[in-house]
Amino acid sequence: MSRRPIIAGNWKMNMTRAQATELITALKPLVKDAAAEVVICVPYTDIDTAVALCKGSNIKVGAENVAWAEKGAFTGEISADMLLELGTEYVIIGHSERRQYFGETDASVNARLKTAIAKGLKPIVCVGETLEERESGKTDDVLKTQVTGAFDGISAADAADVVIAYEPVWAIGTGKTATSEQAEETIAGIRAEVKALYGAEVAEGMRIQYGGSMNPKNVKELMAQPDIDGGLIGGASLKAVDFSQVVNYDA
Ligand code: PEP
Repeated sequence: MSRRPIIAGNWKMNMTRAQATELITALKPLVKDAAAEVVICVPYTDIDTAVALCKGSNIKVGAENVAWAEKGAFTGEISADMLLELGTEYVIIGHSERRQYFGETDASVNARLKTAIAKGLKPIVCVGETLEERESGKTDDVLKTQVTGAFDGISAADAADVVIAYEPVWAIGTGKTATSEQAEETIAGIRAEVKALYGAEVAEGMRIQYGGSMNPKNVKELMAQPDIDGGLIGGASLKAVDFSQVVNYDA
């Protein structure tokens, strides 16, 4: 089964609206012929600007999180309806920085994922091990727990449309990339876990990205791996030329 690659930028807490305007304006012509699906996940305050600028282009706009609750007393959170009203299409859930600094757990990731699916947002669910976990041989167990936790109670039909981003925590923002063999082996393991949960058809159709210091120099080799279906890109998504070179890795 062929899976369309998906390259998504994660701007994190970067880019004022003026900077977002400059970046997107420069990016649009550079990625207009991309074969891969192109997404930029931006801070909430940039979403309306990004949606307006990306209208009529091949760039889709995502958010960096979504609340599990529909509305109410959840200071600082943002609801799926609020995101949808702005034209948001994708949403990142369970990024390691959310897990590390803001107390996200597999249970909160699962709750957010269920809400995103119910509301029609397209989720990118992040999983990944720390360096300590990798070095102590726990990578497979950690990922199994994260994947089963994230998808708990979610049907095969709903799971099929979710994108998973495998992001080894030790490779995010560090300049250290997993080798293509490490990334391939680990992502193949995640796909096997999806197969155990949902069967071969869902597993073969599911898009699984690699994330962790992916850049114009290493993207080609990573994307040549059979189980790697795209990338979630932090630092390199903040520069139009760099991000376009990642997006156009096959050009
Ligand atoms: C990320 O934020 O998901 C990420 C992979 O960051 P970076 O590319 O900067 O490592």
